[in-house]
Amino acid sequence: MNQFVDTDIAIIGAGIAGTSIARELSKYDLSVIVIERKNGIGLEGTATNHHLVCQGGDSLTFRPGTLHAELNIKSIPLWPKLAEDLNFKFRRIGGLWLIRDNVDFNKFQKMYSRAFKSSLDPKSPYLIPEGSFIPLKFIDRKELKDLEPEISDEFIGALYDPNLATVDPPEVAKAYAENAKANGVNFLFNTEIKKINKVLDKFELISDKISIRSKVVINAAGIEADKIAELVKARDFSYVPFKGTIVELDDELGEKIKHEVLVLPRGSSHMQVIAPTVDNKLLAGIHLEMSYRSNREVKDYAVKHAINVSKKFFPKIQFEKHITRSFTGFMAMTNPDTGWHDFVIGMPDLVPYWINIVLGPAGVSASPYLGKKVVELLHKFGINLVEKKNFSNVRKEVES
Ligand SMILES: Cc1cc2nc3c(=O)[nH]c(=O)nc-3n(C[C@H](O)[C@H](O)[C@H](O)COP(=O)(O)OP(=O)(O)OC[C@H]3O[C@@H](n4cnc5c(N)ncnc54)[C@H](O)[C@@H]3O)c2cc1C
Repeated sequence: MNQFVDTDIAIIGAGIAGTSIARELSKYDLSVIVIERKNGIGLEGTATNHHLVCQGGDSLTFRPGTLHAELNIKSIPLWPKLAEDLNFKFRRIGGLWLIRDNVDFNKFQKMYSRAFKSSLDPKSPYLIPEGSFIPLKFIDRKELKDLEPEISDEFIGALYDPNLATVDPPEVAKAYAENAKANGVNFLFNTEIKKINKVLDKFELISDKISIRSKVVINAAGIEADKIAELVKARDFSYVPFKGTIVELDDELGEKIKHEVLVLPRGSSHMQVIAPTVDNKLLAGIHLEMSYRSNREVKDYAVKHAINVSKKFFPKIQFEKHITRSFTGFMAMTNPDTGWHDFVIGMPDLVPYWINIVLGPAGVSASPYLGKKVVELLHKFGINLVEKKNFSNVRKEVES
């Protein structure tokens, strides 16, 4: 017979969303359990992405008024201190948005002025504190060559964002989790939630070996969040799974290419980007396609896309010789038809005390503020949270 456990808050999923929320909740007097079907932390979407932390240009261009923009912009100033507190690698690489001609230049000018309005103008909705953001600047061909000597002559300059950073997302998720564990959060691995009942005022989450009864449930199951919400009729959102393919290149090339380099795609929906990682490798891609989420196969055409993009930027480098691996990941796109993605962070009207989380693009970048947003939501719905007096920042191992 199944073992029973009671808790105040249960979080389904130990990706970047579940672990960052767990860490924030560990600041309060609550019992919290994180339930993960895999045997470790951050092994799904958190492990299969481009590792970029939007620190400037990218997040400033997100649509004002969305949670996507709010969480990313509010996370910008939190990252450096978080990396210090939780002792994970946080590397500022800077981004170069390449300019081929006046069409690119005009587009970037428009994006930059919108960015200014959304978070740098003192009247903007989410003002970034002074000192945590270096303004972007346009650079000419000579300055571009100084930063990336092997860049193609095709590009006449770039919009330079010195803020952009990279992290190792599974390492960050592990850091959140270890700190949450040190502050009393419990983790259950190899535990897949398959069924959910409502028993009086609690949800009963059922796996093959254990049943967890909890007043509040946070559904942070990543690309499976829709299926989990369906189990309790709490799906008030929809998304399309997008498959992204990324190629990893060795650290020999990481010695040559030091910045994120990207160009705006023309006549194609695939991203064209290459960027260093914290351990000096490079990630290139991203071939994007709508697909069944069970289809994780790496296709030759998607690898070819990453190599062609890299060669377009750096024609003299033989990228094929430096491939270490290729992988696919899935992101949840909530508005693929308009292109304006937004996160889902909410309690469905008909299912109180159930919170759905869907991140999708830039979800890692938004994680420092995510838990705070969930705390705001719990307060709004009358859940009394009392701060612990002995919250500590010490990390301890939680995986076994
Ligand atoms: C190609 C690509 C590139 C990207 N690049 C970036 C980038 O550069 N920067 C950035 O900020 N973001 C990027 N993203 C987005 C980012 O990867 C996601 O927003 C983020 O990883 C989502 O984290 P999550 O915790 O919601 O999901 P996951 O990390 O997938 O976590 C969900 C967890 O829930 C568990 N789970 C699911 N079902 C159950 C169940 N029934 N029972 C128990 N556990 C369950 C899963 O095993 C998993 O561990 C990219 C995404 C893709 C696809």
